[in-house]
Amino acid sequence: MSWTIQSYSTDVEKLLLEESLFFTGNGYIGVRGNLEENNLHPPNTIRGAYVNGFYDDVPISYGEKMYAFPETQQKSLNITDTQTMEIWLGEGEWREKFSLQEGKVISYVRSLYVDKGYTERNIQWQSRSGHEIIINIKRLASFTTKNLFVQCMTLKPISGDIPIQVVSKLDGNVHNFIDPTDPRVGHDGEKRLAITRMEHVDDANYIELQTSKSNLSVATLTDLSVDNSDVSYEYSKDDTSFTTTATFLLTETTKIEKRTFFADSIRYDHLANTLVNLKSELASTSFEKIKNEQQTYLLDFWSRADICIKGDRKLQKAIRFNLFHILQSTGQDGISNIAAKGLSGEGYEGHYFWDTEIYLLPIFIMTDPDVAKKLLLYRYSILSHAKERAIEMGHKQGALFPWRTISGTECSSFFPAGTAQYHISADIAHSYIQYYLATNDLKFMKRAGAEVLIETARLWIDAGHYYDNSFRIDAVTGPDEYTCIVNNNYYTNVMAKQNLQWAVKVCHLLQKSDETFWEAFKERLTITEKELISFKCAAESMYLPIDKDLYINPQDDTFLQKKKWDFTNVPKEHYPLLLHYHPLTIYRYQVCKQADTVLAHLLIEEEQSEKVMKNSFHYYEKITSHDSSLSSCVFSMMAARIGCLEKAYNYFIQSASLDLDNTQGNTKDGLHMANMGGTWMGIVVGFAGMRLKESGLHFRPQLPKQWEEYSFHLQYQNRILRFTVSKADFHIELLKGSPLSIYVWGKEVIVNKYNAISMS
Ligand code: BGC
Repeated sequence: MSWTIQSYSTDVEKLLLEESLFFTGNGYIGVRGNLEENNLHPPNTIRGAYVNGFYDDVPISYGEKMYAFPETQQKSLNITDTQTMEIWLGEGEWREKFSLQEGKVISYVRSLYVDKGYTERNIQWQSRSGHEIIINIKRLASFTTKNLFVQCMTLKPISGDIPIQVVSKLDGNVHNFIDPTDPRVGHDGEKRLAITRMEHVDDANYIELQTSKSNLSVATLTDLSVDNSDVSYEYSKDDTSFTTTATFLLTETTKIEKRTFFADSIRYDHLANTLVNLKSELASTSFEKIKNEQQTYLLDFWSRADICIKGDRKLQKAIRFNLFHILQSTGQDGISNIAAKGLSGEGYEGHYFWDTEIYLLPIFIMTDPDVAKKLLLYRYSILSHAKERAIEMGHKQGALFPWRTISGTECSSFFPAGTAQYHISADIAHSYIQYYLATNDLKFMKRAGAEVLIETARLWIDAGHYYDNSFRIDAVTGPDEYTCIVNNNYYTNVMAKQNLQWAVKVCHLLQKSDETFWEAFKERLTITEKELISFKCAAESMYLPIDKDLYINPQDDTFLQKKKWDFTNVPKEHYPLLLHYHPLTIYRYQVCKQADTVLAHLLIEEEQSEKVMKNSFHYYEKITSHDSSLSSCVFSMMAARIGCLEKAYNYFIQSASLDLDNTQGNTKDGLHMANMGGTWMGIVVGFAGMRLKESGLHFRPQLPKQWEEYSFHLQYQNRILRFTVSKADFHIELLKGSPLSIYVWGKEVIVNKYNAISMS
């Protein structure tokens, strides 16, 4: 059962939360787990469906607008609502609508099968007039036909024959969720879509919507079929919606299937034709077949990405739950990415952040490099915007990637914790480096990676400067959003250093491997020997702050001079601080929203001694609020790195069930994707201590005492390897590819077919 997540609750608050937890997606579409019957009182719900990367441009209104503040931002839109399927029982004045709040719920369970790729609700219900029925509804967003969302309902009569009507709707009158009190969700731009076409075609209902500003369209086609020879259908329409009513006498278990197809004008030219064709292509494909294909797809996914933990079933479930939702949210087409909340909700307005590069790409780089490539290609596709933004921001050269975006331009209106996070450019460079180290895919570096590395390196040369013989970067914000606009943020500087070093390295690699390509590339990007020397010098002279007394890396030049936040006397309900204090109050204290220097040590350990990393961990741990969901997983991984295994375990537990237990209190707005990625990393990078280095693949395997063993697969330079960490051994199996050397606790091990290294 560790592949199934279940809920027995019909509590209204819980149902709201479950709209995110039980959402259905496939990387292209995402449909929240709203109820088919759509009749909760109070209507405490965020009804939503989204297409990855589909947005409108919304004007940003500022009180005081300064130079180069973005004028508009993209906003992911809630699109046509197809979820409604009301069930009416009885006739005439005795006619009653199925509801979880009326009649009698005899039994209820909602399940998510992460191995099969669908959700299900099973309800035994009795109406007030005594009709009893078993309702089963399965929902699936197909991984093999990305445009398709299916709701398959079966009704089983328990109390004799029941007159039934299933009322299915397609509603184009949709709007986004807003909450002006929470900066983490949208506060305006609620209604951005207008209906441009509504048609009943081929026994199906079609609605096309157009955005107000971005000139994009999204289309939805839906049909309903009842497996009953005596069924009659009635179609009706008003200004904004279609209704299809199927009437029949329920005498035996009957299947009712609603298929909805989505397409958008970013990816398709003729929306209506595309959908009508898709519908007819799949007309003879049964739901069973679609369900089987879904399972086959997931079998393949789990064979690469699963993490098995022996000794903790709850945690095992949580990890699989997290990985499944990551898969459901990952754009795999090179023109979309992974939003901070995936496709599960509207928090952060569907924007893509550094979350992908630092917390999610590691999974794909090591388990499915083709998907990793697609995510990296998305960044490459917005490189021209990043170059324009650098110029707009006053730089003479380089690429400054937007802090948050969908189509490539900066969407952050609060620059201290937005645009100022220049580190995102180095984070993106870092992910290209990691991809290259894991795959040796020089072809891809030629196609995209090398250019990204050069353009981001150019940014640092222009943003930084020499002072006192060292290279410094002023007025930026590191990952910690509670400390803004500082000089020499350690994280930014160390990541920029790696970026500069690799810009030089990649040029040498290209030159060595393909002189003709290199000459053309050098000319296209106007790279000179002088410029490469400037990269090298800046990297070598990069200022990495260190405090000689505390023997830690200060987060920035003035961080340690500030007063420490009074954690003992600030009441619990004042967290997250961002909802209770003006930013300036927070900036005046040593208080971190999330891992910053600690994360720098996780990503680049070569720059500091063990002692500095240990001291820094303990120092920052005391002043970190973890108000960001991106924090505890990093603390878990670094705790493991410095040998504090119990601490690592405790942080890991917090991270693994963050959404399932709603510990941040805002899971209703969507799942926390970066943290979900952080749980895969927590095992592979944290407990197993995996690091990708130029010298090869390194491990420092450890086993929390609470577990019997854990295991996972990795892909590395055309090989597939399986790793198992048990109390006795660290097993490595080479499942595919040629023998290789890896490093375990710094010692070289030649992996042939099967190796076991003692854990003692
Ligand atoms: C975090 C950022 C993160 C964003 C989106 C914020 O709360 O501080 O680091 O990128 O959420 O997940």
